[in-house]
Amino acid sequence: MAKKIIKRSWAEPFKIKMVEPIKMTTKEHREKVAKIAGYNTFLLKSEDVYIDLLTDSGTNAMSDYQWAGMMLGDEAYAGSRNFYYLWDNVKKYYGMPYLVPTHQGRGAEHLVSKAMIKPGDYIPGNMYFTTTRLHQELAGGTFVDVIIDEAHDSQNRHPFKGNIDLQKLEDLFEKVGGKKVPYVSMAGPVNMAGGQPFSMENLRAVKKLTDKYGVKLWFDATRATENAYYIKTREKGFEEKTIAYILKEMCSYFDGLWVSAKKDLMVNIGGFLATRNKKVFEETRNTVVIYEGLHTYGGLAGRDMEAMARGIEEMVQYDNIRARIGQIEYCGNQLEKYGIPMVYPFGGHAIFLDAKRFLPHLKQDLFPAQTLAAEIYVDSGVRGMERGIVSAGRNPETGKHRYPKLELVRLTFPRRVYTQAHIDVMVESIAQVFEDRKKIKGLKMAYEPKYLRFFQAKFAKL
Ligand SMILES: *Cc1c(COP(=O)(O)O)cnc(C)c1O
Repeated sequence: MAKKIIKRSWAEPFKIKMVEPIKMTTKEHREKVAKIAGYNTFLLKSEDVYIDLLTDSGTNAMSDYQWAGMMLGDEAYAGSRNFYYLWDNVKKYYGMPYLVPTHQGRGAEHLVSKAMIKPGDYIPGNMYFTTTRLHQELAGGTFVDVIIDEAHDSQNRHPFKGNIDLQKLEDLFEKVGGKKVPYVSMAGPVNMAGGQPFSMENLRAVKKLTDKYGVKLWFDATRATENAYYIKTREKGFEEKTIAYILKEMCSYFDGLWVSAKKDLMVNIGGFLATRNKKVFEETRNTVVIYEGLHTYGGLAGRDMEAMARGIEEMVQYDNIRARIGQIEYCGNQLEKYGIPMVYPFGGHAIFLDAKRFLPHLKQDLFPAQTLAAEIYVDSGVRGMERGIVSAGRNPETGKHRYPKLELVRLTFPRRVYTQAHIDVMVESIAQVFEDRKKIKGLKMAYEPKYLRFFQAKFAKL
């Protein structure tokens, strides 16, 4: 008799010890509040949301170890013990000798951009991130996308769609000269491409090229452990390496990095920049005092820095990161059974619905992803967000909409927050909206703020 093979599942490496009630609302209520919010999921009240997949930013569940650390906050104005612990862990895990804490990631982006960019400079990056690019532009720079073409194709299954196209990068260096490029800005996984990682091989090649042209290399390390997980599971030679080892090797090629601690580090608020560049360190340690707070707290409470320091120790644990990415894969596999169009491969922090193929009858001017996010919310109280024409904003020179190739709804998974049953509920709601998709009409923009418009824009039904 053939031996029966029993499937062995993984499960979360934690159990739940405190719960927060959530409440299901009626469809009538959701229709009403969605209209008031201008069909922008950022403008909904959290109490009207059932399953909140707006973002994984600051919405994570901290561990008992992190909460215990919150009670050990040293709230001295200067020289808090928690700062020194955080600094020790930044040195140990990211391998960077200098640290400047900031209130969140964009605070660090602001300081780095200001310290390094001069008007007229070019900053190449592997696709843009909203706040990153804006700070680079506000400092007088021009962002140039040098990600591989595969990243712009939602169906391409390249395992490292976050890679930099070396030819595009070298062409830019040749065209404007290395002196006009203060640094290359590399993120991994790339949020706007659908959470796609870069490979170590690509990073090493980028480093070689930047060295050749005398250009610095900086890392948006906000989601670096997710990138490390993909290197471990997809790249030859790293199968046996730990997440901590891979993280440190990645960081070793960079001159400096910035981090939104609200992601990998699983805290509710916080960020930092860290570097081996003494000049940039001295400059940003000085400017942090103007914009954030003294250089040993940077806009944070001592307890926040303690939770961050402990979060670093937890984020590199393989079981943690595997459970996170495993949950997203589970969700994607369930949605696939209903034929829902998505970005492939599934991302490190989110599932991205492909709104162009979900609602092929809507032109991009009718904001298909914005529309789809609103429809899903009204159906079930599940909140996602737009990542398409609204997020892309306007070209600062022409004032016209940017038309990104990707028109996506992002469903982002906070770390350690929702269960598999929540995911089943969400999947069924999306399947229902898909079933009824032909009835969906687009939106028109009724109010448009000047900066990062996706946060506050309002829309009306056509
Ligand atoms: C969230 C994020 C930022 C900005 O950080 P905040 O903490 O939201 O200010 C920058 N880069 C990436 C990749 C992010 O995910």
